[in-house]
Amino acid sequence: MPKVDLKPPAVSKTRLFRSEEELAALPASERIRYRLVSADRRYHANDNIAEFVHEGELEELKAEVQAKLQEVLQTLVIDTESDHNTQETAKRVAKMYVEEVFRGRFHKAPAVTEFPNVERLNELMIVGPITVRSACSHHLCPIFGKVWIGLLPNEHSNLIGLSKYARITDWIMSRPQIQEEAVKMLANELQERVRPDGLAIVMEADHFCMHWRGVKDTDTAMTNSVMRGAFLKDANLRREFLSLMSRKNQG
Ligand SMILES: [Zn+2]
Repeated sequence: MPKVDLKPPAVSKTRLFRSEEELAALPASERIRYRLVSADRRYHANDNIAEFVHEGELEELKAEVQAKLQEVLQTLVIDTESDHNTQETAKRVAKMYVEEVFRGRFHKAPAVTEFPNVERLNELMIVGPITVRSACSHHLCPIFGKVWIGLLPNEHSNLIGLSKYARITDWIMSRPQIQEEAVKMLANELQERVRPDGLAIVMEADHFCMHWRGVKDTDTAMTNSVMRGAFLKDANLRREFLSLMSRKNQG
C-alpha cells in the first residue's frame, strides 16, 4: 500500500499587504522592516538599508533608539534624573549610532565618479593605509585599524579618485561589522565599480572587545585579506603588493 502523507498541505505564506498609509501608524523601525521583508531583502547588522528609509524617518528612528536606550539605562539602575552625566546619554548615543558610527547602514553610498581608463593603466596600484573605524557586531565595541587596497587595472577598468577609496571604505566600515565579512563587502563594492583584473585587500585591526572585556588581551590585532583575479593566480604580483604595502606601512 502506498504511504499516504497525512500532513496537511503547507499553507503558502500569504503576505499581509499594507499600504503606506497603514504603515504610517507604525513606529519608523517597523515600517522600514516591513518594506525590507516585503522586498525579501536581508537586513543584517552590516547591510545597508538606505533605500528602504524614507525622508524624515531617520529622525524618527533616532527618537525610537533614544527611548529604548533610556530604558536600558533605567534597567542598569542608573538615576538619569539626578545624575547630570547621564541625563542626555540616551540621546547622545542614539545620535552617535544613527548619524555617526553606524551611518553606513542608513545612508546611501557616497557619490563616486568613475572615469574610463583612457591612459590604459595596467600597473599595480596600491591605496593605503586607509584608517578603519568600525564596531564589532558581537559586542558593538570599536574596531580600529587600517586597510590596504591593491588593484591591477585593465583597459576596460574604471578609475576612481584616490580619496574615494577612503570614502567607500568608511561607508562599508561604519556599520556593526565582522572583519572577515567587511573585507569581502569592500572587495565586492570595488570589484563592481572598478572592474580590475586583480583586486587585493588587506585589513589589520584592533578589536576593543578583546581589550576591554573577555580575555583582556592588549596586543591582539587581527589581519585578514581577500585576493581576487590576478592576485590569486600570480604569486609574484601578490608578493609585490605585500612588500610595497609593508614598506608604506613603515614609511
Ligand atoms: Zn566583539
